[in-house]
Amino acid sequence: MKILIVEDERKTGDYLRQGLSEAGFVADLVRDGIEGRHAALHDDYDLVVLDVMLPGLDGWQVLRGIRAAGKQVPVLFLTARDQVEDRVKGLEEGADDYLVKPFAFSELLARVRTLLRRGKTRVSNHLRVANLELDLIRRRATRDGRRIDLTAKEFALLELLLRRHGEILPRSLIASQVWDMNFDSDTNVVEVAVRRLRAKIDDDFEPKLIRTVRGMGYVLEAPDGS
Ligand code: CA
Repeated sequence: MKILIVEDERKTGDYLRQGLSEAGFVADLVRDGIEGRHAALHDDYDLVVLDVMLPGLDGWQVLRGIRAAGKQVPVLFLTARDQVEDRVKGLEEGADDYLVKPFAFSELLARVRTLLRRGKTRVSNHLRVANLELDLIRRRATRDGRRIDLTAKEFALLELLLRRHGEILPRSLIASQVWDMNFDSDTNVVEVAVRRLRAKIDDDFEPKLIRTVRGMGYVLEAPDGS
């Protein structure tokens, strides 16, 4: 499997190339948008990891070039923290997924593997488990068709739980992904946030989806595995 990385930040680029190589991929790195578009169009990649802010052409222009040429290669977008508009724009322009910087390499690897498994079919901008649905473009959550108001952090937390549904997520991982806090931080904030999220999405609905796994963390899953 061959992956193209388009990233101008030297450290991030090198780190991604090394990590993906060690994970068994052939990983090529280019450091600006013009080279990125050229490589994506003229070589056969299974996946492109594409930074938004790039010299030459920005990530959107590169993405547009790839899609305009009819290339359906999956594109994983790297976007700046809290730039919700970037994410919406990226998905609308035909990106398949995005990751917010800074991210843990393990998270990137999980997304890369999911995208590769999925192949070249386009992904929906919705995440769904049982009757809970998240619209990633409109940033909306619904349960059983009923709209649920979430804060930005609650949305991010629910998105993480949904993306990794069925997996037990340790508090420390949630803290680092949603709050950008490190392992040693007080993870009480996670407990409080999960409790609030549960009150909104689980209390008035069936089946209950978020479960606490004592001593380990949280998991979101439908009881029947749907
Ligand atoms: Ca950049």
